[in-house]
Amino acid sequence: MRRGRLSSYLGLLFTLAVLLPSVVLVLIALRAVSQEEATVEKRLRSTLLAEVIHAVDRLAAEIDSVGEALLGSSSTAIPAEPPDSASPSEALRGWRDREPLAGLPFLVSSEFEILWPDASAAPLDAEERLFLSANRGFFRNQATIPIYRNIAVAYQEEILDQADTRYAPDEKRQQAIAQYETQKRVREKVYRQAEELGNAPQRRNVIPDSESDTAEDGGEGGGRGDGRGDVVERSSMFVAEHKTLEDITAEDEWGLFPRMHAGRLSLFFWSRRADGGILGCAVDDEALRRELLAALPGLHTAVRLLTLLDEMGVPLTTLPDDTELDLRRPFVAREVGPLLPRREVAAYLSDPHIVASRAGVVKTAIGALVLLLFVSMATGGFLVLRSLRSEMTLARQRTTYVTNVSHELKTPLTSIRLYAEMLKNYEGTSREKRRRYLATMVAECERLTRLINNVLDFSKTERTERRYSTGPVDVTGLCRELVESQRTRLEQAGFRVRFRGAADDTTEPQRSDGADGSDGPLVVEADDQAVIQAVINLLSNAEKYSGDNREIDVSVYRRDNGPQSRPRAVIDIMDRGIGVPPSDRQRIFKQFYRVGDDLTAAVTGTGLGLTIARRQVRDQGGDIECLDRPGGGTIFRIRLPLPEQRES
Ligand code: ADP
Repeated sequence: MRRGRLSSYLGLLFTLAVLLPSVVLVLIALRAVSQEEATVEKRLRSTLLAEVIHAVDRLAAEIDSVGEALLGSSSTAIPAEPPDSASPSEALRGWRDREPLAGLPFLVSSEFEILWPDASAAPLDAEERLFLSANRGFFRNQATIPIYRNIAVAYQEEILDQADTRYAPDEKRQQAIAQYETQKRVREKVYRQAEELGNAPQRRNVIPDSESDTAEDGGEGGGRGDGRGDVVERSSMFVAEHKTLEDITAEDEWGLFPRMHAGRLSLFFWSRRADGGILGCAVDDEALRRELLAALPGLHTAVRLLTLLDEMGVPLTTLPDDTELDLRRPFVAREVGPLLPRREVAAYLSDPHIVASRAGVVKTAIGALVLLLFVSMATGGFLVLRSLRSEMTLARQRTTYVTNVSHELKTPLTSIRLYAEMLKNYEGTSREKRRRYLATMVAECERLTRLINNVLDFSKTERTERRYSTGPVDVTGLCRELVESQRTRLEQAGFRVRFRGAADDTTEPQRSDGADGSDGPLVVEADDQAVIQAVINLLSNAEKYSGDNREIDVSVYRRDNGPQSRPRAVIDIMDRGIGVPPSDRQRIFKQFYRVGDDLTAAVTGTGLGLTIARRQVRDQGGDIECLDRPGGGTIFRIRLPLPEQRES
């Protein structure tokens, strides 16, 4: 009962202190691991987005410097004074020849009269004819072209509260851009507004994976799946406003503007001349491409490919041969800016499985770590509890042991005292009675001695102080003497005692399992006192645990186990008593251990006899085992090694 309570207490302790926290820990870790792929992807996306934005910034700076270079070269190549109307051609052609960025030049008077290309000065070549036919209306200020503006700037009043007067104009623009970029709700509102005003931005050439998730507000769900969000992600962030040449050139002295014609994009440079006319050129495509690409950071790394997509969605850089990219679906992409509409800086993953494999590595590492942690926590906890439990059991057994030893000492002492007093008071009792009293007293003294020997022996072996004096011991003779010395007492107590020595009886039953009963004395090298004590303890147990079936058989024989192992002298001490349950046959040799049934409880004991017997026999190189006896009862079998040579 107490043992059961102890076990359930320790079980509860183990569950609360070790198992429960470990399981919770494992669950938390598994949850983290399951989200690892999303985390890795998010981290990678924000890293690459930062790279792409950086590239866009560099391109913007590069475009500025293209404008500045053209401004510089135009002012040195073409005199500020109105060129002699008869000969601007030389200066203009010279400019184009010397400045690689300068493409076909144009000159427009303050009245929007096209001075160059001039068909009247010289016959036009094909390029000039095409240029004029595409731009004539625009140069004459009669037609508009689309000029792009950041949608957040265009609709800043709608983004910020219209009545909001907190911001200066510059701040206002920045606030609007910031809100537009970080809040999906704002983006949706702006696009709806643009659509309603008939100014919907164009579709982008690419459909980036929903990159805006990385800067999402309030976790409103990803941009994918919900139709509105998709439109937002796939629409350009620039809206067109249609302007004439006069509108474009009204506020500045020089500048750049994009010119889309027949699906192709050109960049135009212009600068105001002293006479109010406008000098400009188309920026040379090839030179512009070179400048822009030079401004991009390293294109290919182990993780990603970076490229610049033109207005048709075609890469302007060469991609590695073996890449099979869906160019329309970059991992992240950004539009270059209002001067290069529909162009995008796009980043693709070099290896599409990189997210899964990176997450896999982390998952495996965390998984292994968690498993290791769990196993070590569980094992550690289990070991601690096991040792705690065995310590507690031992402590309980020691207490029982002290009680039992006291009891065991008291019983023989009481009966010795009783008989001694009878002898003292009844001097007239018969010789026969006196002899019986004395014999009982001697037997009780022997029991006392045995008990004290066991207790002393136990503490000696506990402190490993026990010393043996080894010599030849005739096992048959020794056992026969022991049995004979106990015979009278045992028979008086109702036992039938039999002894079979090695040479006594060739028909003894043990021969069937390999025994050889035909030998003479079996002589082993051992400490005779140790063997005697072991045999006495086993005989005493046979007596104690016999119950009503009072039969004790002792047989000694030699056993050969083939040429490989040494021959053994075997001593079987057999009873027909209460038996030992199979599950207890090993445990009964542990110190203080007693079988926990009622039959055992009826017999007093210390739980030390078998511990000592086994230790002593093992110290002689042998062993003891407990076996079931066919027909009921127990066999305790001592085996001691015999010398290799047979004794003659
Ligand atoms: P003790 O007899 O003092 O209890 P032992 O170490 O000699 O201690 O024996 C340990 C336990 O083994 C006993 O309590 C008993 O339950 C069991 N046992 C030993 N010998 C026998 C036997 N011959 N028959 C049945 N049970 C036995």
